[in-house]
Amino acid sequence: MASRNQNRPPRSPNAKKEGLGGIPFDKRRKVETQGTGRRQAFSAVNKQDVTMNSDVGSIEDCGKVEFTKDEVLALLSERAKAGKFDTKAKIEQMTDIIKRLKVCVKWFQQADETHVQEKESLKVSLESAEQKYNHKELEARTKEEELHATISNLKENVVSLHEKLAKEESCKQDAIECHRREKESRVAAEKVQASLGEELYKVKEEKLAAKQKVTSLEDMYKRLQEYNTSLQQYNSKLQTDLETVRAALTRAEKEKSSILENLSTLRGHSKSLQDQLASSRVLQDDAIKQKDSLLLEVTNLRNELQQVRDDRDRQVVQSQKLAEEIEKYQENVGKSSQELDILIAKSGSLEETCSLQKERINMLEQQLAIASERQKMADASVSLTRTEFEEQKHLLCELQDRLADMEHQLCEAELLRKKLHNTILELKGNIRVFCRVRPLLPEDGGRHEATVIAYPTSTETRGRGVDLVQSGNKHPFTFDKVFNHEASQEEVFFEISQLVQSALDGYKVCIFAYGQTGSGKTYTMMGRPETPEQKGLIPRSLEQIFQASQSLGAQGWKYKMQVSMLEIYNETIRDLLSTNRTTSMELVRADSGTSGKQYTITHDVNGHTHVSDLTIFDVCSIGKISSLLQQAAQSRSVGKTQMNEQSSRSHFVFTMRISGVNESTEQQVQGVLNLIDLAGSERLSKSGATGDRLKETQAINKSLSALSDVIFALAKKEDHVPFRNSKLTYLLQPCLGGDSKTLMFVNISPDPSSAGESLCSLRFAARVNACEIGIPRRQTSMKPLDSRLSYG
Ligand code: ADP
Ligand code: MG
Repeated sequence: MASRNQNRPPRSPNAKKEGLGGIPFDKRRKVETQGTGRRQAFSAVNKQDVTMNSDVGSIEDCGKVEFTKDEVLALLSERAKAGKFDTKAKIEQMTDIIKRLKVCVKWFQQADETHVQEKESLKVSLESAEQKYNHKELEARTKEEELHATISNLKENVVSLHEKLAKEESCKQDAIECHRREKESRVAAEKVQASLGEELYKVKEEKLAAKQKVTSLEDMYKRLQEYNTSLQQYNSKLQTDLETVRAALTRAEKEKSSILENLSTLRGHSKSLQDQLASSRVLQDDAIKQKDSLLLEVTNLRNELQQVRDDRDRQVVQSQKLAEEIEKYQENVGKSSQELDILIAKSGSLEETCSLQKERINMLEQQLAIASERQKMADASVSLTRTEFEEQKHLLCELQDRLADMEHQLCEAELLRKKLHNTILELKGNIRVFCRVRPLLPEDGGRHEATVIAYPTSTETRGRGVDLVQSGNKHPFTFDKVFNHEASQEEVFFEISQLVQSALDGYKVCIFAYGQTGSGKTYTMMGRPETPEQKGLIPRSLEQIFQASQSLGAQGWKYKMQVSMLEIYNETIRDLLSTNRTTSMELVRADSGTSGKQYTITHDVNGHTHVSDLTIFDVCSIGKISSLLQQAAQSRSVGKTQMNEQSSRSHFVFTMRISGVNESTEQQVQGVLNLIDLAGSERLSKSGATGDRLKETQAINKSLSALSDVIFALAKKEDHVPFRNSKLTYLLQPCLGGDSKTLMFVNISPDPSSAGESLCSLRFAARVNACEIGIPRRQTSMKPLDSRLSYG
């Protein structure tokens, strides 16, 4: 630093203490070049640093003052400004300035000298520098040429790069386009993510519940696996049994048919033989008659013969007498020789008749022999026919025995069928859920385009899946069976007919219809009885029961059916078959619980339910039931108009008790079929519900949640099942759980405005569908079939 400063003008004493140290190096250099314009090249000056050190010593004598151009100009301007101050100060200032200027002038003179020397040395260095410069210029030119070449190369490069750039640009545009699209999709994805987030939250909740369920299910699964293996063994055994029984059955059937054929041919044969017998009997009778007549004739002839013989004897006696007389007369010869000749002729003719009579007797005797021969033959054929007849009779008895045997086998096969049928139902699960979606009705508003229900078509869920779309979200569900809006009443009934058969086989069966008002519960249960193809499950079940009971009558079964129908409204039972028809006033009293009839529910030890004061009808024909159904529908509709659409706010329970006795096998069955049209499951907005409506809603909510509580408690095999929490569950207690069979229809309306309620119904049904009630009885207690059948 010190060496650099030596080439600069002395600094003014007024200059800032930090001096140039405070000014950036670049600025200082600029000042130097401006201020010392005479210097040729800074580098050259630097080279002179050592030589100039001696000169600097003289500058340092001037008080080590350095000046920059600005400072000098500032000094000069200070002088110019001086006029504004008072004279004394001005003089002092001026002298100071003059002093400083003198120093400055001195420094300039010294600097001039040093500059002359500097100039010379600079000239020398300039020359060498010029040489260097020329040399460098040459180098630079060659380099420039090289550079030109490289520039042209680079230009070419640039052109190609421009092309590339253009391409890149287009690529970039594409990428931007892509990016934009991606952005859009990302926004959509974010929306989806948000909805998924919501769903995730719900799913998490469900997962929690599911986890709990999983633990209980795992436990159950283990037990079920054990049960399953034993069941599989049992099943395979049953299958082999079934196979053998089937084979035996087919063999028996073949035998039976051949025997029947035999029998019919034998019958034909026997008939012909009987005909023959009859004809031979007739012949025999004829022959006997002929024989009798011949015998009569023979006796007549014998009599005649006897007479003739007597005559002859008499004649002989006479002739002897006559001969004696002749002898007497011969003595009197000549007297009566004429008389003698006549008498001889007479005796000759008599002898002739006698021989004729003899011939005739011989002929008759021959005829008699032939007739008796014939009679003998007829007798022989009769005895032959008789033995044949006996043989046929024996064969017939044998065949009848075999037929009875076959019928017995058939009875056993029927029992086995019941057993297998029940096993199949047990394997299907003792609680099942079917979903039925009704068609869109004109009163729904006919918004066909806004379909909210879809049916998945994948093979594993076909016929079992249903999707509900609500505000863009798809909720998929699967059940044991899903009926779409096109399903007919017949198709629906076909699926439950096996359950109805179970009731006839001695099981307790409950079929519920669940769903909001207007979703098709009553249509499913009752249908439109006036049009045969729209009849509901109740009339169809009854028809099946009557038909089956009649065909089972051939196997010795006699059935007795009892029917009752009731309604539960606001936790109060109302008899729909009561003969003294309830008036509107009584209805009101019944609802407030002040009616004379109590309808108390009790269960006996055999699992039979009894409701006091309830009307129960013995029915033996479908006609009788139809009239009862009509009566019930009428008393329900009376309630509907008078009690603010009560029908949709009450549970309808149809109960049929079936008791069957087989006198030949002494078996007994007691089954129960309950068909229940539940109250509408829709939630009422709490704010709008007051008074009676609020009471109704609370009662419905209570009983429906009691029903689900019972189902879930049974599924979890809890010690306490809250049957007593509602009238409905208490009434159905023996028919829920155990080895009873439960089916729930969840009815769905496709109307978009009902989507919320439909979702609630489907969720409820899905929870019920996840339940398995009851361990199949045969698994736990391998009871013989008979004992099972003798217990209701
Ligand atoms: P809910 O008993 O659930 O209140 P309904 O059985 O009274 O409902 O049904 C409401 C309306 O829809 C009725 O007019 C009924 O005839 C009609 N309906 C329901 N299900 C069907 C169906 N599967 N086919 C034709 N019409 C139906
Ligand atoms: Mg209804």
